[in-house]
Amino acid sequence: MEAWRRQLNDPVSAFPIAKAGPAHIATLKTFDPPLTALEGRRLRGAERRGKRLLFPTDDGELVLLVHLMTAGRLKMLRAGEDGPKTPALRLEFAGGSKLVLTENARKKRAGVWLLSPEAASEEVAHLGPEALGLDAAALGEILRRESRRLHPLLRDQRAIAGIGRAWANEILHAAKLSPYALSTDLDDPEVDRLADALNDELARGLDLRESGASDARTYRVHNRLGEPCHVCGTPLARIDFEEHTIYYCPDCQTGGRILKDRRLSRLLR
Ligand SMILES: [Zn+2]
Repeated sequence: MEAWRRQLNDPVSAFPIAKAGPAHIATLKTFDPPLTALEGRRLRGAERRGKRLLFPTDDGELVLLVHLMTAGRLKMLRAGEDGPKTPALRLEFAGGSKLVLTENARKKRAGVWLLSPEAASEEVAHLGPEALGLDAAALGEILRRESRRLHPLLRDQRAIAGIGRAWANEILHAAKLSPYALSTDLDDPEVDRLADALNDELARGLDLRESGASDARTYRVHNRLGEPCHVCGTPLARIDFEEHTIYYCPDCQTGGRILKDRRLSRLLR
């Protein structure tokens, strides 16, 4: 998300918005004020809170909030450049450039909200501290707050903002910690390792994204079932937990143990 933000910050603020919309009915979550209220206004730039992008208008009256979820993509099109026929959202700027949101998925999950600055602050008020830059002391405090499994805890935006399922996989692998380990069981060296892994992995992801790398080049563990672990060569494993699929290395992370599918064991009980 931080890579998106940096990429969009300048182009979205270069010209006022000439035409706002159309937007897909499932994507636009607010109707008052209407999207057309953006027309004639200029965006101040792109901001980010956790996985949400915020585009405040430079008159301080409106904020366009975008949550891309898993499949949403934002793209800036230069004047005259061809874009998707039916994007989930289109903003056309006075110079002819366009910001388009696409979502290549049957079920539309990405969302766009047009809000007052107060309502936008409320939207993001529940988010935990930003993941990037979190130090071991702050992370330790979050881990000790309650006993939770590491993978869902890292993904919980109320605890830490900005980590999705893919990066939770990458971070836990780099930290050599089991996705099922309990947060309160970590000793100090493990908390340090997790804090380092978190910052190193997110920084690595940011660099790769800024250089335009694909998912396949960015992720070393996520979505790589059966491929050799890049550290030890063991085939990577996968486990379904709650609504999510977790990828991990049984050698680096779980002492050789294959994690049990908790959904399946619950059904069989
Ligand atoms: Zn390994």
